Amino acid sequence: MRKIRYHYKSHFPWAMKALKRDYYKCVECGSDNYIIVHHKDKNRMNNNPDNLITLCKPCHAEAHHQTMRWTNPNIDIINELRNQGKTYDFIGKHLGVSRQRIHQIVKKTLS
Ligand SMILES: [Zn+2]
Repeated sequence: MRKIRYHYKSHFPWAMKALKRDYYKCVECGSDNYIIVHHKDKNRMNNNPDNLITLCKPCHAEAHHQTMRWTNPNIDIINELRNQGKTYDFIGKHLGVSRQRIHQIVKKTLS
């Protein structure tokens, strides 16, 4: 656990709960650098645990640029592209999500 915004601890118990639930790691890429608690619906007043997600700085920046990230690309499309020998990088770009996200989805589907 590194570089958690210091004020979370004293002023935002809801944020600490979300961090703890997500193991103090970015749920997108697993990084524990510069993690922050993101409001999925972008409403800072909505501190419902379902609306909170732990992200690192780069993933958080991306989250604000891409709403696509929160919708799961269809696994059939991913598999189709994998069968064509495409890389995760290519598939991610194609579907508008990160390579890590594709990896995550594939892993989730296999397990
Ligand atoms: Zn991240």
